[in-house]
Amino acid sequence: MASPDTPSEPTERTRLQRNPKRAVYDRKTIHAILDEAMLCHLAVSMDGAPCIIPTIHTRIGDALYLHGSTHNRLFRHLATGAEACLSVTLLDGLVLARSGLHHSMNYRSVILYAQGTVIDDLAEKNRVLEALVEGLIPGRWADSRQPTDSERRATAVLRFPITEASAKVRQGPPIDDDRDRDLPIWAGILPTRLCVGEPIQDQAGQIVPLPAYLRDYDRLPRT
Ligand SMILES: Cc1cc2nc3c(=O)[nH]c(=O)nc-3n(C[C@H](O)[C@H](O)[C@H](O)COP(=O)(O)OP(=O)(O)OC[C@H]3O[C@@H](n4cnc5c(N)ncnc54)[C@H](O)[C@@H]3O)c2cc1C
Repeated sequence: MASPDTPSEPTERTRLQRNPKRAVYDRKTIHAILDEAMLCHLAVSMDGAPCIIPTIHTRIGDALYLHGSTHNRLFRHLATGAEACLSVTLLDGLVLARSGLHHSMNYRSVILYAQGTVIDDLAEKNRVLEALVEGLIPGRWADSRQPTDSERRATAVLRFPITEASAKVRQGPPIDDDRDRDLPIWAGILPTRLCVGEPIQDQAGQIVPLPAYLRDYDRLPRT
């Protein structure tokens, strides 16, 4: 089996045309971006029109998983074997150039093309549901009430193989035209990162001490 560091060959549709030097195809980078991202956009073509939904995702090995209601329209469409395009983006900074036009962003993003497979096995569903929760809040699953069989049956889980994927990574300073470099205008990077605020406890039930996994919560990359 190829090492995660081995660059995969891009396919015709994952080969970056625009700024190809920003392309990354090794699975390690693609997996790391997928793992750090909290949101994923799922796009499909349905009844001849594009459709997109934001969703939560998780990665286990070489597959990306989504979950939702069994009534989810896009999932039911994908269950027929339709093609999906999935995308995640991490914003790392605002790039301030001296010229207005050369402003940019530092980012890491992934685009994955795949067909989904419906997961029916309840044990595998459970593994995915656990990974979904743990991917967002490590330590939370064991602290939660576990899903019943009927809850799991009412939940659709889709598996997408991470085989046809590309990452695009922009890092570094602004790229100004040579003639603009000496202009007396501040230029550089405003780093950005996702952070959480103070936890707000639900007052509807028992008041419970704040768990350590929330006290120490930080959205740092999974190692
Ligand atoms: C936060 C953010 C902001 C951006 N803002 C802009 C903007 O304002 N204007 C703009 O033109 N572009 C922007 N981009 C870049 C944009 O995502 C596209 O890469 C770019 O527009 C080229 O599109 P294209 O269809 O010509 O790509 P092509 O290079 O023709 O795409 C071919 C293949 O390359 C891969 N690919 C392309 N883009 C990405 C990507 N971002 N991540 C992973 N794989 C990719 C896909 O597999 C795709 O099928 C932004 C990207 C990010 C992440």
